[in-house]
Amino acid sequence: MVHFVGAGSGAPDLITVRGMRLLQEADVVIYAGSLVNPKLLKYCKEGTEIHDSAQMHLEEVLSVMERAEGEGKTTVRLHTGDPSIYGAIREQMDALRARGIAFDICPGVSSMSAAAAALQVEYTLPDVAQTVIISRAAGRTPVPEKEDLPKLAAIGATLVLFLSAGQTEAVQAALLQGAYTEATPCAIVYKASWPEEKILRGTVGTLPTMAEQNGIKQTALIVVGDVLGNDYALSKLYDKHFTTGYRQGE
Ligand code: SAH
Repeated sequence: MVHFVGAGSGAPDLITVRGMRLLQEADVVIYAGSLVNPKLLKYCKEGTEIHDSAQMHLEEVLSVMERAEGEGKTTVRLHTGDPSIYGAIREQMDALRARGIAFDICPGVSSMSAAAAALQVEYTLPDVAQTVIISRAAGRTPVPEKEDLPKLAAIGATLVLFLSAGQTEAVQAALLQGAYTEATPCAIVYKASWPEEKILRGTVGTLPTMAEQNGIKQTALIVVGDVLGNDYALSKLYDKHFTTGYRQGE
């Protein structure tokens, strides 16, 4: 059995209870060493076989899983944040299905949640934004044309950009082609929930300078939108005049 486990954003106590238990029970662990906090490996029992997938290609990862399966062992494939977001798990799942190896997935705290916590922000505010767009600037992995950043930026929703901190000038240019202005609030969160976490607040106009002055090129999220500003409407949910299925409004 293979368990894909979300490691959380970095702090070792941000893994789920289930994820921790799976790590404790695993015979083999393959972890994404470029981003997963190695402190999580302390949850493993003595003698666990540990592989860092930063130095492995897909076939090598699969062959470790296949061998472990043949030996009746349990494998944890530990991915950063939540595995469903830029986790490259689909290709592994399809290969496991083809080989008849059973697997399941344990979700994790994505860095986008950890970044919101660090910023003390709510991504969805009444009258400001009720939509969060998760995307990335095109890099060595292209982005489908229909999702070009200026097109997404035209919506003016809350935007969370992964894998883009090294391209802040291109990101800024794309944002300004959309609904955002130089004055739209913008933040960079570097290594959210790690001891070296950095929170940089500014505007779309200052985005490249914020990244450059702090030497940030990777392991950071760019958050854009008016939810980072001061204006919003109060929620209906907790409005004393609003009736819900649980409460009669006054
Ligand atoms: N599955 C992960 C994302 C993997 S893609 C998740 O749910 O968070 C890797 C990118 O995620 C990095 O380039 C960076 O943009 C972002 N990232 C991962 N961990 C981060 C952290 N602790 N703080 C800020 N950004 C992070």
